Amino acid sequence: MNTNTRLIETPLMGLMQDVPLLISSLIRYAADYHGTREIVSVTSDAGTFRYSYGDAYKRSCALARALEDFGILPGDRIATLAGNTHRHFEVFYGVSGIGSVLHTVNPRLFEEQIRYIINHAQDRLVFIDPEYAPLMEGLIDDLPTLEACIILTDQEHMPATTLKNVFSYEAWIEGQPSHYDWPEFDERTASSLCYTSGTTGDPKGVLYSHRSTVLHALGAAQMGAMALGPNDCILPIAPMYHANAWAMPYIAAMVGAKLTLPGTKMDPENLLTLINDEEVTFACAVPTVWTMMLEHLDRAGATIPSLKRTTIGGSAVPIAMIDRFREQYGVEVLHLWGMTEISPLGTLASPTKAISSLSQQEQALILSKQGRAMFGLDIKIVDKNGAIAPRDGETSGALWVKGPWAASGYYRREDEILLDDDGWFPTGDVANLDEFGFMKITDRTKDVIKSGGEWISSIDLENAAVGHPKVSQAAVIGVHHPKWEERPLLLVVPVDGETVRGPDVLGFLEGKVAKWWLPDDVKIVDELPLTATGKIKKSALREQYKDFSFEA
Ligand code: AMP
Repeated sequence: MNTNTRLIETPLMGLMQDVPLLISSLIRYAADYHGTREIVSVTSDAGTFRYSYGDAYKRSCALARALEDFGILPGDRIATLAGNTHRHFEVFYGVSGIGSVLHTVNPRLFEEQIRYIINHAQDRLVFIDPEYAPLMEGLIDDLPTLEACIILTDQEHMPATTLKNVFSYEAWIEGQPSHYDWPEFDERTASSLCYTSGTTGDPKGVLYSHRSTVLHALGAAQMGAMALGPNDCILPIAPMYHANAWAMPYIAAMVGAKLTLPGTKMDPENLLTLINDEEVTFACAVPTVWTMMLEHLDRAGATIPSLKRTTIGGSAVPIAMIDRFREQYGVEVLHLWGMTEISPLGTLASPTKAISSLSQQEQALILSKQGRAMFGLDIKIVDKNGAIAPRDGETSGALWVKGPWAASGYYRREDEILLDDDGWFPTGDVANLDEFGFMKITDRTKDVIKSGGEWISSIDLENAAVGHPKVSQAAVIGVHHPKWEERPLLLVVPVDGETVRGPDVLGFLEGKVAKWWLPDDVKIVDELPLTATGKIKKSALREQYKDFSFEA
């Protein structure tokens, strides 16, 4: 880990071509060299739809033309609220390819957040799956920058809607030429935008560039990382609206892998059918999805013989899950750590030569950690005294990252300083590093809860809870949950002389926060531990309740 920064002022420059790394080159390459490789997409209108990279390329060209005809200019933001389908895949390439910015919006956010981020991004168009038409109807009056809404279906399957300036995607691109000269521009041009609501306050926009996206895909696909190639069939279960489905739409095109897109139906039955019918070799998802899938496999007595590897991240992967995948189903789990701000992949636990001489048990323990930094991204761990933590597998400290696919700031918040003086980004995670370079996340300094891969703001919940007239103080912590990884536990100190009951507080919170944010339990306590500066000491609470289990 080299944490020094030393610049040479007058270097001798190399004499190689300065060809920009652009997203359009990925789909062009896929069409040229893997043109017949299949893309399978589960749609709401055409069932399981099949075509090829060659076809996807032509339709991305048609979309690029349609966008330009509409008057979309380089730099304009174009929103999507959509699942993992072939049409969304085309939008990924068409929008970024012309130099405009693909803004993937998470439809699971609550309406206030969606409204905020579309307005903040000043999106001009929105592409939505038909099922989100009612959601958009409820929002559209407060979204003044949106000029039209394109529904990702054909004319025949258009939903009845009160939306104005609404088109079916198929009609919108119909008749457009299927060839297009993709423009060349600076590789640092913004390509896509993804808001993260991980921390408190308003969601923040991470603005990826063409360069960061292509380098990240190259880094992730390499042998020492995900080791993906043309013989793979990739199933991105991680949604395309969450950090670009962990780059799978880009990696699959780059390596010519078959791409299986599960649409919005992510239940275990559908996923199992897809894995077996399409002979999926590689998948990616958060642990919650696999918990449900493993239960389903057990119940159904089914197997998944084609699946060789799956990458799991977003929350810590329990070692029991890794063991079960290996022993019962012959699937290798690649545990990864990442975040929206780093495109999102940071570390990945794939084996190295150095650990190969250890016992099976020792190797399994190391591979259950969040893993080694991918080539291209540096990590450093700083202990509580400000020193670089030794690689002893024990000393934990703040985790910082630096690299060409890590954010340097947030969109339209450029005045906020995000990085330290040497350009390192503070992740808000706490980790240690062992002698083999494998990182283990041990805690989080950011005050949030991650449930089923989605964020819940503990501070927003606490603020809502102290609004109850009989609540004096409130603290929310994430507690391990067998299905959702973490769920909120609310601790409440009543106002002096008052009595308050958990169900009353829960009833009070209803309607004030998203339904799925409601704490799973409320504990009434006499006091909360405080830090020296008078803040609630969450680390002490997390320790105190680490074995707490929610009533089933
Ligand atoms: P997001 O930006 O929504 O992808 O969330 C990123 C955050 O999720 C990280 O900063 C971590 O707190 C958490 N996270 C991601 N992957 C893991 C993992 N493998 N183990 C533990 N926490 C993780």
